Amino acid sequence: MISLKNPQQIAEMKEAGRITAEAMAAAVEAVKEGISTWDLDRVIRHRIENCGARPTFLGYGGFPGSACISVNNEVIHGIPSRRRILHEGDIVKIDVGAFYRGFTGDMARTVPVGRISEEAQRLIDVTRESFECGAAAFVAGGRLGDIGSAIQTRVESEGFSVVRRYVGHGVGHELHEDPDVPNYGTAGRGPRLQVGMTLAIEPMVNAGTYEVTVDRRDGWTVRTADGRLSAHHENSVALTEDGPVILTAVYD
Ligand code: MG
Repeated sequence: MISLKNPQQIAEMKEAGRITAEAMAAAVEAVKEGISTWDLDRVIRHRIENCGARPTFLGYGGFPGSACISVNNEVIHGIPSRRRILHEGDIVKIDVGAFYRGFTGDMARTVPVGRISEEAQRLIDVTRESFECGAAAFVAGGRLGDIGSAIQTRVESEGFSVVRRYVGHGVGHELHEDPDVPNYGTAGRGPRLQVGMTLAIEPMVNAGTYEVTVDRRDGWTVRTADGRLSAHHENSVALTEDGPVILTAVYD
């Protein structure tokens, strides 16, 4: 069941989103050659806890980190590790949520480490642009398929592919609420988009095949099946009377 939020609840979600975005900003600033993904996770955890919030991902389904940190061919759900050191040319995906006063935020960014390849930069740019296309299609009276279709069209026009196995989702009191929000689909299909919906719109874009594998040993890390690069861009977005509003942003 899709839970609609009233303006007061959306205002409260903005607070959780602001803390999420502040933790992200701190992590992005800390990304540099030689840092471990565990160190980045500590930066995120401290920032969230200093705001009086709690990292939503910590313990979620047994996840051991405060954030998912995935490098290069890792798509999502990378586990922070002291042994995972960032090197120049890497792209690192940081996925984080802060739980605050009953609501959570959820956002992801892909960050370059020093100088990166032209293809890696293009992948990051197209992924962000595809998010913007998806968010722009999140309008009252539209259909859920409009969002996925807008994302898929942008991504595939650049020769990249959209991950099928993992999708965006509703977000609110819970990290994962109804509905699923695929990053692919057919415009004009699916549930009607309504004011009060709050969605995590999150294209996961691969340079090569959209097929992915899950690490058998840790049970979490999702990688591209062909070993090529992947990028991720996510925000929690509310549909208000004034149109879509990004919740995971820093507002004054
Ligand atoms: Mg998400």
